[in-house]
Amino acid sequence: MIILWFRQDLRLEDNPALCAAVEQGRILPVYILDDVNAGRFAMGGASRWWLHHSLSALQRDLQGHLRFFKGDASEILSGLMKKTGAQGVYWNRCYEPWRIARDKAIKTALKEQGADARSFNGSLLWEPHEVLKEDGTPYKVFTPFYRRGCLERAGEPRVPVERSERIDYADYGGGVDLDALGLMPEIDWYSGMAAEWTPGEAGAQTRLTDFVEHGLRGYKEKRNRPDLQNVSRLSPHLHFGEISPHTAWHTAWKAEAVQGLKSDGDVFRSELGWREFSHTLLYHFPELPQENWQKKFDTFPWLKDYGALECWQRGMTGYPIVDAGMRELWQTGYMHNRVRMVVASFLVKHLMLHWQHGERWFWDTLVDADLANNSASWQWVAGCGADAAPYFRIFNPITQGDKFDPKGEYTRRFVPELAQMPDKYLFCPWEAPKAVLEQAGVVLGETYPQPIVDHKKARERALGAFSDIG
Ligand code: FAD
Repeated sequence: MIILWFRQDLRLEDNPALCAAVEQGRILPVYILDDVNAGRFAMGGASRWWLHHSLSALQRDLQGHLRFFKGDASEILSGLMKKTGAQGVYWNRCYEPWRIARDKAIKTALKEQGADARSFNGSLLWEPHEVLKEDGTPYKVFTPFYRRGCLERAGEPRVPVERSERIDYADYGGGVDLDALGLMPEIDWYSGMAAEWTPGEAGAQTRLTDFVEHGLRGYKEKRNRPDLQNVSRLSPHLHFGEISPHTAWHTAWKAEAVQGLKSDGDVFRSELGWREFSHTLLYHFPELPQENWQKKFDTFPWLKDYGALECWQRGMTGYPIVDAGMRELWQTGYMHNRVRMVVASFLVKHLMLHWQHGERWFWDTLVDADLANNSASWQWVAGCGADAAPYFRIFNPITQGDKFDPKGEYTRRFVPELAQMPDKYLFCPWEAPKAVLEQAGVVLGETYPQPIVDHKKARERALGAFSDIG
């Protein structure tokens, strides 16, 4: 009998560890909530809400045979090996530095006991140690990483593995109830998330099918528009492994061929490539979540205005596109990529607050919070990351709104107090004549905030600070 350790692979389709375990005979599927080893990288609130529901869906798919545990994974697995007499433990690999360290130690200890300990690749299209430059060092720039390292040298990702038709389960009565993992938040702030998402493998598959049928056409251009439905919203499903990137890649590939959507498909698959790039960066540079990639940013004069931070967190900055994004995040656990870039730029440049404040807030509130994607993206926007957007490229929150939410549908949905503002002033209500504000029922400073910083002055302040460290 093999203990099958589920982690960020909460699915039955295209699950290499599950297939290999089933070939050996009976399996004991387990999930371990290991906050002990995670330490400061323990999951945030929105991720825990997602995980609870995802595990509940997986439990149904495994016909009630999944066993839950809480604590140090190495102690729990070694105890389980003794109690059950299992011949080994199989799992799919994860790539956060703390998990790599823990898993290596577990594998070594299991092997020393004579157990069959095996890990598989179920989460990435190309493994970080496989994609290296000709001189053996890791890529630091996305385009050569993806074009040369992945597509040309490593080649097409493998096709998804077939689902195991029959699974024989071992009898084991140990473990705790799912509720005892304590994943559900104590206060009910998740009703918006529950309305928006269906965690679990079936929800992931529906999302992919829906995207391929309705969102992929036009993805190349329309993926930048938060008011449209042209992005996949697969990120939380991919993070928890409810669907594999291989399935997403090959499904998009087939749809492109049938529907003639080559350029849309190419761009979608290159976004999956960005996910690979972030994971590869984190693997080779494990300090990415804590340290500026570009050391010159260590002396950047970040401000400590925690009042401004709170306005940003609550979507009360007075810049409607920023506030719409921050409220979308709070209400749904998600934010559109274009708006993530705008709000992140606003935090680090207009407010000059350290990118780590934003990274931590996203970590707690995003259902797709992912250590690699989150820290690489924050460093990218802040200008201090590998292959980063230059610091002097400061998003203008007014023109970004006009351009990417041209009819204001997205902004009006999340900032309803501006619902009656005409398009011309929606993204700069402070410029509206008194009569226009009155007609829209807006009293600045009362029904909606005055801007917390002046765009032009904030821009100049940020550029000045940047040139000082230059
Ligand atoms: P789609 O456009 O449909 O893309 C498909 C998939 O490609 C995504 O699900 C995701 O897995 C991957 N992808 C797309 N864009 C990126 C990107 N820029 N970097 C890495 N992978 C990408 N993504 C997360 O998954 N978790 C995070 O914690 C996270 N934090 C972010 C923080 C900031 C400041 C920014 C600017 C971006 C962040 N992203 C993060 C990347 C990106 O915003 C999301 O992956 C994307 O918005 C998810 O929506 P989607 O699934 O509809 O994307």
